Amino acid sequence: MPEPVARRAVIALGSNLGQRHETLDSAVAALSELSQITVQAVSPVHETVAVSLDGPDPERPRFANAVAVVTTTLTPEQLLAQLQRTEREHHRVRHERWGDRTLDLDLIDYEGETRASTALTIPHPRAAERAFVLEPWADIEPEAVLAGTPIRQLLEKLRAQSPEETR
Ligand code: ADP
Ligand code: MG
Repeated sequence: MPEPVARRAVIALGSNLGQRHETLDSAVAALSELSQITVQAVSPVHETVAVSLDGPDPERPRFANAVAVVTTTLTPEQLLAQLQRTEREHHRVRHERWGDRTLDLDLIDYEGETRASTALTIPHPRAAERAFVLEPWADIEPEAVLAGTPIRQLLEKLRAQSPEETR
């Protein structure tokens, strides 16, 4: 059997309930235990204001966000299924307020491959506007490109738009 080729994927991690930093560490550990995933780099954790549908919401618990770059022999669909399994294992719960969660794992990019279904859209359609994804990602891959645009350029644009909201 030919060796499956390892592909590079970018995963965003977020938590705003419970022991947030421990949850992020534990999620990275769970992914790295799998033989089909090798964690190449994990960013420092960024503390960010929760973003609701109508913008930043300081009333909600703050998020701990990080980004992991992995190589994997899983397909994008298999990788997403694994991310969702890991979310469930970390007792992801939905509270009344929109979006609070013990663990959110989003697939941001998979070697520039595209998918456009509700179940899986890559590159992640909102990542380009999310400083809480781009900033940790830039910590570990400053030269990274998202859907054809350098993330450094995306961050500059975000900072110019709303300097106080991207911190
Ligand atoms: P969000 O992360 O946008 O706050 P959820 O984590 O609840 O929302 O995800 C909702 C759905 O998004 C999931 O059922 C999943 O199938 C779908 N989805 C589509 N594309 C992606 C992606 N790139 N990464 C993670 N989930 C995705
Ligand atoms: Mg998600």
